[in-house]
Amino acid sequence: MTHFLRLYVAVVCSLRSEQPNGLDTGGVRLELSKALDLWARNSKLTFREINSDHADILVYFHRGYHGDGYPFDGRGQILAHAFFPGKDRGGDAHFDEEEIWLLEDDSNEEGEWIRNFPIPVEE
Ligand SMILES: [Zn+2]
Repeated sequence: MTHFLRLYVAVVCSLRSEQPNGLDTGGVRLELSKALDLWARNSKLTFREINSDHADILVYFHRGYHGDGYPFDGRGQILAHAFFPGKDRGGDAHFDEEEIWLLEDDSNEEGEWIRNFPIPVEE
């Protein structure tokens, strides 16, 4: 007899960059939580935000070379990347700080961040 077990994995997430590109940190966190909600609805993950380097997902804004072998390229093209859950950088999400990121309030384009939030792909 086969039992199917549906696992909902609780993930803790933390924004580690303060005021990336001059954006309001509170606004970024709000958009991040919306993106994670959307992600949660489409996966078996639930997310909770904490303020710690030990979160499963660390969200950073970086520019150019930032030490993980996937350099950003300035404005355009590569916007962000994320690592599949695992050790060290696993699950972390990096955003290209040199892109023009808009918070929803700043623009008419709804959900800019949600569309841009990187969903991890296996390497
Ligand atoms: Zn990176």
